[in-house]
This record gives sequence, C-alpha cells and structure tokens, in this order.
Amino acid sequence: MRGGLPRGLKELEPALALAAVRALSFYCPRCGRVVEPPPGSRAVLLYVRGVLSLREARRAAVIAHYRHSHTGYRDSRDEQFMSPEERREYERALEARASCLRRGDLKGALEHLRAAREIRSRAHERRKKRFNKRAAELAKRDGLLP
Ligand SMILES: [Zn+2]
Repeated sequence: MRGGLPRGLKELEPALALAAVRALSFYCPRCGRVVEPPPGSRAVLLYVRGVLSLREARRAAVIAHYRHSHTGYRDSRDEQFMSPEERREYERALEARASCLRRGDLKGALEHLRAAREIRSRAHERRKKRFNKRAAELAKRDGLLP
C-alpha cells in the first residue's frame, strides 16, 4: 500500500481493508500473477461500504485492472473523446481562463476552468466506457468474467 491507507479508508480497520483487497484479488493470466486491487480503488471502497456485492466488486476490479494494464487506456487522452465542437469549446475555455489569469481576474478564470472541466469530464466518461468495454471483452476471453 503506497503511502498508507488512502482517504476514505482511513476510518476503516486496516484489517478490513486488507480483507477486502484479498477478497477482490484474482489471478491475471496476462500478467501471470495475482493482482490485488489498490486499497483506494472504487471496487474496494464500494465493496467495503456494501454498495457492491462481492461478485459485482470482483467484476469491477477485473475490469479496472484490464482497462489500466491490457488496453490502450493509459496512452489515450480525454481530448480524443471530444467532438470537434467540444474540442473547440474546451480550448476556448482554457484560453479564456489563461487570459483571465493574466488580467488577475480569478473569478472569471475559475468560471472558465469549470466549463473546461465539465467538457473534459464528459469526454473522460466516454473514454472510460469505451475502454471498459474492451477490458470486459478481453477478461471474458480469458475466462475471468462470465
Ligand atoms: Zn493483468
């Protein structure tokens, strides 16, 4: 566990966090080793909180690992998942933010940043969805998902 327990797990018993990580670990045939989900991962947190069942959390852990390690997710960019119009809007918002900062207009800068983040966040969700689909297909092929 890098740097101790992440935010959100701090109030949990370390033994509980560890048990959840163990319960969600799996053998990845592509890595040739047992993979443990990071203690601060969505799968671990939602499993510990009872939001996801063991089965759902395992599926989430497998898909997250496959997405990060066995698809082109890491090399992709949110910007690639913006429409040309969104891309223009995004760049305009970033330029407007920079211009506000140069003028010392902090409030304006924050508004433009918020607009840019909204566009980016939509693109990020699309990117994740696309790579999750690819990850699930690979994991199915490897027999890790039904
Ligand atoms: Zn792997």
